[in-house]
Amino acid sequence: MSVRHDVVIVGGGGAGLRAAIAIAETNPSLSVAVVSKVYPMRSHTVAAEGGAAAVIKDNDSLEDHFRDTVGGSDWLADQDAVELFVNEAPAEMIQLEHWGCPWSREPDGTVAVRPFGGMNIERTWFASDKTGFHMLHALYQTSLKYSPIVSYDESFATKILVENGRCQGVSALDLRTGKVETILASALILCTGGAGRVFPFTTNGAINTGDGMAMAYRAGVPLKDMEFIQYHPTGLPGTGILITEASRGEGGILVNKDGYRYLQDYDLGKPVQVTDPEHPVKKSMELGPRDRLSQAFVKEMERGRTIPGPHGDFVLLDLRHLGEKKIDKKLPFVRELAKNYAGIDPVYEPIPVRPVIHYIMGGVDTDTDSATSLLGLFAAGEVACVSINGANRLGSNSLTELLVFGARAGRAAAIFATQNPDLDVEALEKQGADEQDRIARDFIRKEGGTERIATLRREMNETMESGAGIYRSERSLRDTCDKLMELRQRFSNLLIEDRSLTFNTELTSALELDFMLDVALAIGQSALARTESRGSHQRTDHPDRDDENFLKHSLAFHTDDGVRIGYKDVVITKWPPQERVYGK
Ligand SMILES: Cc1cc2nc3c(=O)[nH]c(=O)nc-3n(C[C@H](O)[C@H](O)[C@H](O)COP(=O)(O)OP(=O)(O)OC[C@H]3O[C@@H](n4cnc5c(N)ncnc54)[C@H](O)[C@@H]3O)c2cc1C
Repeated sequence: MSVRHDVVIVGGGGAGLRAAIAIAETNPSLSVAVVSKVYPMRSHTVAAEGGAAAVIKDNDSLEDHFRDTVGGSDWLADQDAVELFVNEAPAEMIQLEHWGCPWSREPDGTVAVRPFGGMNIERTWFASDKTGFHMLHALYQTSLKYSPIVSYDESFATKILVENGRCQGVSALDLRTGKVETILASALILCTGGAGRVFPFTTNGAINTGDGMAMAYRAGVPLKDMEFIQYHPTGLPGTGILITEASRGEGGILVNKDGYRYLQDYDLGKPVQVTDPEHPVKKSMELGPRDRLSQAFVKEMERGRTIPGPHGDFVLLDLRHLGEKKIDKKLPFVRELAKNYAGIDPVYEPIPVRPVIHYIMGGVDTDTDSATSLLGLFAAGEVACVSINGANRLGSNSLTELLVFGARAGRAAAIFATQNPDLDVEALEKQGADEQDRIARDFIRKEGGTERIATLRREMNETMESGAGIYRSERSLRDTCDKLMELRQRFSNLLIEDRSLTFNTELTSALELDFMLDVALAIGQSALARTESRGSHQRTDHPDRDDENFLKHSLAFHTDDGVRIGYKDVVITKWPPQERVYGK
């Protein structure tokens, strides 16, 4: 038995909902399924605080947004994708306003923008410091008005169904009943978000386990640029809670244990006046890109200038000079988070912060229409790698990326589904039945086994941090890859104790760990093969950028013998690589 739609979207976050609306608008006769393992409003997009970048002000230009993004990417972004992205971004943001997103305003009523790291001019739109919440809300309520959009909430996709060289649907576990449903469709869009949970200390929600990446990878689609993992410089120690970059955009400064603005020692510009709350810090150190700031933290720690704490060393983010009025108006959520989770009121005390895993630049390899190499399979949002982010994403580009590429994926999938209505139903139903059997056999009814999910997950987390963190080397990466292979072996000896079919969280944790091990190994092997330093990928044994050999995307392919690494050229349309310089 199976259910049938024209397009199925896996993921109900920003990218998934934007894609669903685009399909309904492109061809209202198409039926669209949105499969999500949590209720859509619980997707990670809801947690985004700082804002979304798009050119809107007269003093800004598309060319500047292009240059900031390409430079920020350390020239690894595809310039055709970036051009298209910056061109389409403003219309998408205005469209979102028409759907009800309450963008914050300047006193004269125009849309307000704030500075963000690596952007040389203010261009980040925001809705106070709950931007993702408001964006997702606007998308969700808009999606409800299209009757062809059907939701499969709390439904966990486990496998992409491929027949005759075409993706034709997905198997999904209904978490309420434990039944594996076969959802058939002419096109599938993966919008499953990031994979931060392969690391121990992350801002990512517990659901960000790289499921879509692993599913695409197992179906033969390469994962691109997986070695590029973003650390955000200001996470709250011990919790993984993000203190948004907007706090630095509004003028917050970072100081070490001596109260010294240490970033001035790291080629990120000179200190500027920060005492006037009406004039935020511009083009200065704290607004350097995230990779450089996180690397500076490590150097500062090596010099013994950070503050030791129970959850690792930290530095201080000082907002006090902004004053209570501005903090309450522009950063109320930061104040709330700092008070509730660190017992600190930033109006009176600086906030302890340290780098935290935040975002994965890599993902499912797609073209600018979000199509993958597998016919009928598309991907958009954090799961995908188009790539506009290259070796380092600029903060606030990814919420806009969800809109631009979510919409493009929706339009392309709608056209593909309209042109390819026929499906191999019988063969697909057989595959669906096999998947149900696999899950029952390997997990729910599995006998024996001694390995605990939590132990394997912790060991995976630890080896990712120790071997594939802010700085890596051949030695550390080899150790990590060996460890991951060992964990993969041990996974087959997993102990499953919960046999229930209703909301079996032990089962979903096991499925997620299975996906994460694939993603982790793709990260490790891609990082091992890239013997240069670029953006967020810093090799202590290869400290320089090597354009001659590595101005190219890495592609991780799944094979029976493990990961195979290949490469693909970067698209350079108009701005040849240069030295990446900030703060000059
Ligand atoms: C704390 C935080 C703050 C951020 N702040 C900003 C910011 O200010 N500006 C900015 O530009 N970016 C920000 N980002 C990054 C940005 O928010 C994310 O990259 C983006 O929201 C991801 O959206 P998405 O639609 O791709 O995925 P998500 O919103 O993560 O949604 C993923 C969806 O996939 C579903 N899913 C996953 N696996 C499965 C499965 N196996 N079966 C079924 N469903 C599945 C989930 O249920 C969910 O609906 C932030 C990220 C974090 C973590």
